[in-house]
Amino acid sequence: MSKPILPGATIGILGSGQLGRMLAQSARQMGYRVSTLSPEKDSPTGQIADHEVVADYSDLDAIEQFARAVDVVTFEFENVASEATAAAAKHAPVRPDGQVLHITQNRLREKQALSAAGLPLTPFAPVTDLASLEAAITKLGCPAILKTAGFGYDGKGQVRINQASEASAAWAVIGAQAAVLEQVVDFELELSVVAARGLNGQVVDYGLIENRHSQHILDLSIADLPLSAAQTAAAHEIAHGVLESLGVVGVLCVELFLTKNGDLLINEVAPRPHNSGHLTIEGCPTGQFAQQLRAVCGLPLGDTTRHCAVAMANLLGDLWQVDGRSQTPDWSRALANPRVNLHLYGKAKPRPGRKMGHITALAATREEAAQSALAARAALLSN
Ligand code: AMP
Repeated sequence: MSKPILPGATIGILGSGQLGRMLAQSARQMGYRVSTLSPEKDSPTGQIADHEVVADYSDLDAIEQFARAVDVVTFEFENVASEATAAAAKHAPVRPDGQVLHITQNRLREKQALSAAGLPLTPFAPVTDLASLEAAITKLGCPAILKTAGFGYDGKGQVRINQASEASAAWAVIGAQAAVLEQVVDFELELSVVAARGLNGQVVDYGLIENRHSQHILDLSIADLPLSAAQTAAAHEIAHGVLESLGVVGVLCVELFLTKNGDLLINEVAPRPHNSGHLTIEGCPTGQFAQQLRAVCGLPLGDTTRHCAVAMANLLGDLWQVDGRSQTPDWSRALANPRVNLHLYGKAKPRPGRKMGHITALAATREEAAQSALAARAALLSN
């Protein structure tokens, strides 16, 4: 097995958003140096990193030069092409492997790989043209959701089909590109399992996290969703199965639907720390970013036990607009509860729907934690 990459070494992060920023914060805490590459300048990650390389992900020379100057390359942005990860891999280990990225950045490849591994998924069918869309609708029935195979997140590149006659309009809406049709799942709730796999194959996870969305964007996450023992065991088994079948080194999040029948189905996976795992920063001895760092550096994984109940509420750019006026939220209001913590990502422009930060609340019970996180956020809007 390769030697661990120890503090003092440089972590290379492809991508420069908030996920890279929080990974960089963990890396700095442990005495690593950080370099980030993305097309942005003064980015959320760049503000924390030692070096911020401004280059396009398709600039293979820049990626090679970047990789030469670091000890390990990881990513916080999924849509980096295989050519770029292959260019980086000439000079430094890429963790997780570029192949993991290649599979998970395309819904169809991801679903086919997970289905081949025997994991439970939302019923789906591949779509390459209008005829295959019509055949998929016949197979799966309506309502269904047509999702582009590549480059989609937070509900983007998706259209709901309520009846077969809407096929051609839906095909046009997604831009007549390779896609996947999914049955609409009548779910009870949505949850995720954030897990990590070390270089030696050790796997740990942070338990079941309940996720509530608003307008297709994650709004609230609450740790320790109490499901039955069998469902809890099934969720753990699914997450571990995904990590092992894809051979991931690092943190990965599996997003699941709990159906009205009590079954668990995978919606999608993200091969990196995830928004729903932000509550692990204050909620656990080793948060998901510190865990990612340990995993990609080949260090032993850390403790994922919860200190206490914890919930997280996202802060979107909409909070900067009140009654049509721009305002900077008064953060002291959110912090009036001493068990609330504030994270802001250093983004200059608060556009509606843009993730600007998050709040975590610690409490005695999960209901209280959720209430505290929501109350802290609501306090930002009161007069
Ligand atoms: P996605 O970008 O695929 O994670 O979709 C964003 C959100 O849309 C999910 O978190 C769900 O709330 C909803 N959604 C996506 N796919 C389905 C589905 N097959 N059935 C029901 N709801 C879905």
